[in-house]
Amino acid sequence: AKRKGRNRFEYYNSKLDEHSDRVFSLLQKLRPAILNNKLEVYFQPLIDLHSDTICSMEALVRWPQEDGAMIFPDQFIPVAESSGLINKLGAFVLEEACRFCAHQHSIGNDKLTVAVNLSFSQFRDNSLPGIVESVLKKTGLAANFLELELTESILADEQGNISTQLEQLKKLGVQFAIDDFGTGYSNLNYLRSFNAGKLKIDKIFITTLGIDEKHEMLVSAIINMAKSLDMKVVAEGVEGDAAKTKLIELGCDIGQGYLWSKPIPESQFNELLKVERQA
Ligand code: C2E
Ligand code: CA
Ligand code: CA
Ligand code: CA
Repeated sequence: AKRKGRNRFEYYNSKLDEHSDRVFSLLQKLRPAILNNKLEVYFQPLIDLHSDTICSMEALVRWPQEDGAMIFPDQFIPVAESSGLINKLGAFVLEEACRFCAHQHSIGNDKLTVAVNLSFSQFRDNSLPGIVESVLKKTGLAANFLELELTESILADEQGNISTQLEQLKKLGVQFAIDDFGTGYSNLNYLRSFNAGKLKIDKIFITTLGIDEKHEMLVSAIINMAKSLDMKVVAEGVEGDAAKTKLIELGCDIGQGYLWSKPIPESQFNELLKVERQA
């Protein structure tokens, strides 16, 4: 038994080594990729379910590799967060997103808003409000067209100085959405007092909607709660017509998911908007 225990220890140890080797090599590649502008920002449309038109887009970062492969954010965002690179990465995404949205406004798509994800660790050094302010100024995007996506853990932070920064951001006039709702530590009191404009229901509750009844009551309750707090509701992860139909029936305002489009590069997003304007 002793021997077995030791083997297991060695097994864990080598797994840990493998993990930290992978993180280390990602980090070594990520730093120059960010500095040399090798990351790309893709955009995924959000659809107003009342009018069936594109009302917004979410900026989602991508890391294309020399060999044509793509590294997705779930793999490198945590590495960026733990290394301090997240501030540079975040500023890059923010600027690309605001620039693209301002461009859309200049060609007549002047109702379109853009959503940018924020990490907890971007609040660490208090620089975020200043960065947002200068990016808005630089790109010329009016503040109310920028929507910052926050998770509940950011709202729940009480030790740090996140709430001060959130107040500063609110004063700039940017909008807020609560992301991944239903998966985190939900505190309805924070939710009510923070007063975000949008609530995004996590995709784990949405993808099977209309096919199996498992999450229907929950989704319905979240939608009603959000409405009573005067928030618009976004359903993420809408993959089929069944989910869309059910969401409309339940009174959801906005949908996002593969049913309409995956996250796509700017040029393809332009095509999407062009097709919609011709229709
Ligand atoms: P998220 O903010 O929840 O973004 C939505 C994710 O769901 C995206 O994954 C998107 O591609 C995916 N998705 C959209 N529609 C569907 C669908 O119909 N079905 C399914 N199964 N998935 C769908 P992605 O782009 O891989 O991003 C993963 C996560 O990485 C994001 O989750 C977000 O937390 C983080 N992330 C992405 N870009 C950034 C960024 O610029 N900054 C920060 N801090 N985090 C980012
Ligand atoms: Ca998001
Ligand atoms: Ca989400
Ligand atoms: Ca997320």
